[in-house]
Amino acid sequence: MKYLFILLSACLLSACGKSPSLTLHVFECGQVNVHDISLFSPGVNEGGAKELTGSCYLIQHPKGKMIWDTGLPDALAGNQADAFGGKLTLSVNNTLSDQLAAINVKPEDIKYMGISHFHGDHTGNANLFKHSQLFIQQAEYDAAFGETPEKFGFNPASYNALDTSKITILKGDHDVFADGSVIIKTAPGHTPGHQMLLVNLENEGPIMLSGDLYHFTSNREHRRVPAFNFDKPQTLKTMEMIETFVKDSGAQFWIQHDKEQNALIRHSPSFYN
Ligand SMILES: [Zn+2]
Repeated sequence: MKYLFILLSACLLSACGKSPSLTLHVFECGQVNVHDISLFSPGVNEGGAKELTGSCYLIQHPKGKMIWDTGLPDALAGNQADAFGGKLTLSVNNTLSDQLAAINVKPEDIKYMGISHFHGDHTGNANLFKHSQLFIQQAEYDAAFGETPEKFGFNPASYNALDTSKITILKGDHDVFADGSVIIKTAPGHTPGHQMLLVNLENEGPIMLSGDLYHFTSNREHRRVPAFNFDKPQTLKTMEMIETFVKDSGAQFWIQHDKEQNALIRHSPSFYN
């Protein structure tokens, strides 16, 4: 009992769940030029154009560095690619490799990798981090490394080097550094094992990196589910669960593809702490 009291006191004094030296860098990881935005919001704004961005993040903790999502492939730099039968044009202005190098981080320095889900705009540079330990939900693992990854909209060539990586399969939330500072949150539906990342920063407070639960703000406001989505009822249930969590925790909610919101977020070499 006495020890529990001492532990709780220490937690209160040190703001348990927040690591003073925890930092978060944000990288621009590609552009998605959407020629028919109703792909993301069926029946709404049919034929309308919209630009989305891609985002990747570096978390630096005293126990190691972690990359969250790897964006569109660096190989796209200087080129463009069509996707979804010409409904999207994909491009990369700044490579993730260059953005990491600019802050003196090499891919081999990164101990852990979390990927919100295995769509190609999130696994584009996954093979760069084959030395990292991958955190993946069981359902996403089964889909991505099973017999028919294409059926889920995945591109196995973008992550085939992970065959020999250390992989930790999750069945729910996971406290990455075992101190409450960085938590993987299970958020299935968009893909079988979609997940999100909660980063508890000392100064900035909690930030939720929301993967592709929503692709832009109006879809969040109206809880719209894209046409390409694994399980709509499960996605709507996850939206309900996550919105309650975000409200209760007071976390900032960052929509990774939202270009307008990202314009207001400081990007690397600046960082949050
Ligand atoms: Zn995406």
